[in-house]
Amino acid sequence: MSLIMARSMCLRMTAQRIIACQHRWSSTAAEPSATEQPAEFYDIIIAGGGMVGTTLACSLGKNPRLADRKTLLLEAAAGFKPCSTETYSNRVSAISKGTYRLMKAIGAWPEIEATRVKSVLKMQVWDACSDALITFNYDDLSDNISWIVENDVLLASVYRQLETVSSVEIRYSTRMEECRLIRDGADMSTVRLANGNRLKCELLIGADGYNSLVRRSMGVDNFTLAYNQMGVVATLKLAGGAANNVTAWQRFLPTGPIALLPLNDEMSSLVWSTSVPEAKRLLQLDEPSFVAAVNEAFNKSYPKNNIVEDVMKNVNSLISASTGSRLEPPPVVESVMEKSRAAFPLGLGHTSTYVGQGVCLIGDAAHRVHPLAGQGVNLGFGDVQCLTDTLAEANYSGLGLNNLSQLVKYEQERLKHNIPILLTTHGLQRLYTTDFPPIVGLRSIGLTITNALPPVKKFLMNYAMS
Ligand SMILES: Cc1cc2nc3c(=O)[nH]c(=O)nc-3n(C[C@H](O)[C@H](O)[C@H](O)COP(=O)(O)OP(=O)(O)OC[C@H]3O[C@@H](n4cnc5c(N)ncnc54)[C@H](O)[C@@H]3O)c2cc1C
Repeated sequence: MSLIMARSMCLRMTAQRIIACQHRWSSTAAEPSATEQPAEFYDIIIAGGGMVGTTLACSLGKNPRLADRKTLLLEAAAGFKPCSTETYSNRVSAISKGTYRLMKAIGAWPEIEATRVKSVLKMQVWDACSDALITFNYDDLSDNISWIVENDVLLASVYRQLETVSSVEIRYSTRMEECRLIRDGADMSTVRLANGNRLKCELLIGADGYNSLVRRSMGVDNFTLAYNQMGVVATLKLAGGAANNVTAWQRFLPTGPIALLPLNDEMSSLVWSTSVPEAKRLLQLDEPSFVAAVNEAFNKSYPKNNIVEDVMKNVNSLISASTGSRLEPPPVVESVMEKSRAAFPLGLGHTSTYVGQGVCLIGDAAHRVHPLAGQGVNLGFGDVQCLTDTLAEANYSGLGLNNLSQLVKYEQERLKHNIPILLTTHGLQRLYTTDFPPIVGLRSIGLTITNALPPVKKFLMNYAMS
């Protein structure tokens, strides 16, 4: 069902993109006055040096087919900060095999591995309203499902690689204030910086996050939905060490999912999605009360509906013997690292088009998803790989970097992957944010049956984490 919806959305979006290219691109930048300095030229300007923009700069710079092209990376924040060797950062990402392959390809993986990364060999996801569960792992825990990496570690490792690339220039503390896109006869995109300087380029890439100025300057529709939830993050110490802390745990509470991601044998990272008032309350609790709240959220018994219980008993008696899956208790949390608590707003977003003449969007600038499936930045890294390949091919075949039909190939390729993930993630968020018994019953049956079908689980695991 979601694939059919995804396909029709792709077609609708392609049509919208064509209309946008023809009619609706607007520019917010004023025409340069006669007294202004001439704009400096770069082949490619990437606006936004977060994880996705920085990785794209590195990937483009290291591609031999783009070696003759000059790229500028603009980042509003002050220079990149080296990651702490003592304390774990509270911002971590579960990264997929595709991201792992990309990091290897650009040479960043050895440094990530030498700094700090934790393999996830198993995942247990369960429903607080019914205890229905699903587990994911390869046979005998022989392979990683994903890796948990601190965002700072990943960024620092990519940055080190960027230092070796001569075709890429980076400017930190440099905010792009306005952009004027190619249209109405203009042959270059122009960017105006906060200091008044102007730059021009053949291709402007918006990697500037979910409030993207590049996207707004394209004048395209952007579908957004605020979940009215925040993701509370923290670094937690586990009681007695979890000996073999290789499992990612996620429990769906009626108020939102709570997840514990392994960092090492003694520590895990928390991502707890909950209502905005509850998130604020959790941030204000003293440390012992916060730890008690986390342990309660993972273990508290929620009222069960008798009919759902009876149905689940029957389903379980039919299939649990074949799965051998039993609900395992997650590790007990002992303490929370000082100053590691923070909360971030959660929302859904998708732009009606990723590309236009001389402009394109990647990462959260194009799509934003709920963190419950750990997919956000992985989608962005998928964009990086696909855009690098597209631009390398366009450059090699002499088509130019701002060729719309080439950029459309990137868009179509990414829509096929991004939209099903976006719809599935949103569907799960909606499905699990209720304790209405018929919904609890149906989702619990679905989860239990899926858990009993190893080929289906393997397909889901490979699709989501490939
Ligand atoms: C609680 C939480 C947990 C998450 N967990 C996961 C996970 O486990 N796995 C996963 O895959 N994803 C996860 N995500 C999602 C992931 O963090 C995002 O998808 C990712 O950070 C997006 O990266 P980005 O580089 O596209 O955008 P951003 O990180 O938003 O970076 C954009 C950059 O652009 C810069 N910028 C913006 N405007 C301008 C301008 N005008 N001029 C110059 N620079 C500008 C900003 O300073 C910023 O550095 C999680 C998100 C949250 C909130």
